[in-house]
Amino acid sequence: VSDLSLVFDVGGHGARAALFDSHTAMLVRQADIPVGEISASDDLQATLGGLLNRAAAALGDVAVRHVVIAAPGPVTAGRVDRLPTLFPGRNGGVDLVLIGRRLWPGAAIWACNDLTAAGYGFIAQGYRDFCVLTCGSGIGAKLFLDGRPLLGGRGMGGEIGHWQVPGAPPLRCDCGGIGHLGTIGSGRGAVRLAHHYAAQNPRGFAGSSLASAVDAAAQVDSQLLVAGFRGGDAWTVGVIDAAAAAIGSALALVHLATGIERFFVTGGFACALGHEFGQRIGHHAAAMAWDSGTDWSCAVEVMPPDTECGLLGAGQMPNLVAPDWQPEPVCA
Ligand SMILES: [Zn+2]
Repeated sequence: VSDLSLVFDVGGHGARAALFDSHTAMLVRQADIPVGEISASDDLQATLGGLLNRAAAALGDVAVRHVVIAAPGPVTAGRVDRLPTLFPGRNGGVDLVLIGRRLWPGAAIWACNDLTAAGYGFIAQGYRDFCVLTCGSGIGAKLFLDGRPLLGGRGMGGEIGHWQVPGAPPLRCDCGGIGHLGTIGSGRGAVRLAHHYAAQNPRGFAGSSLASAVDAAAQVDSQLLVAGFRGGDAWTVGVIDAAAAAIGSALALVHLATGIERFFVTGGFACALGHEFGQRIGHHAAAMAWDSGTDWSCAVEVMPPDTECGLLGAGQMPNLVAPDWQPEPVCA
């Protein structure tokens, strides 16, 4: 068996897969397979298993020692309870370890939350106390204290994307809740927020640079928001700033509750918005927290695009998790 691991980072759009070389700590080959349309009658277990199988097949037939499956939801005992960003409106969990055992019977199968996986990438760089946050299709986070993820007994630690933001507009979350952080602050959320603001104030939207790019406000998508924000369009900056304020308020509370002063932000939407988005999150966090001396101007660090924190962290995880301690990164 080689020193390669097969790693998966399941997200809102589908599965990213890669081979991780534990000698070089680099990704060797990568594939990105979209999940496609899901019908109400589809078996989620079979759907996800098929998705992972297709993603692995795109990497070629390679013997691997470890398979790490990182999923965007709470994971306990190798099972993800729910996957609202991947399967919106569908309840029910998926047994990740069972999928792995059936598809790769010779390998050690690891199952964990996607942010737990991403966090191990920062552990590998020497960090011990931090929060890693993703802002892509949804919002998720994980606190690492003294080098270990804080999960709680049922793996719910980090589900801050489903915190109901006080005063948030009544927009529906992928989970079915109303006004959750992920409904406002994520890529999908910011699009909902933009549509909401445009409907409330059509004149304001009409004056934005986005209005000339679309026939109707409902056509505004996350790519247009990124372009408008980076181009300095005032209306779009206002939308993104509202998203940053919601995230910042959550980080202020996380900081005050735990003392954490370092926040790594991953996820396609945040990375596309870039450094300025992190600055705005930090600015709002500072305004909502006791001034205890934290330097919020550098506390929130948005990763460069295509850093692949989830895949790299998933690859590092089997080498870093203590053998006597596996409450969530389950190895079966
Ligand atoms: Zn929610």
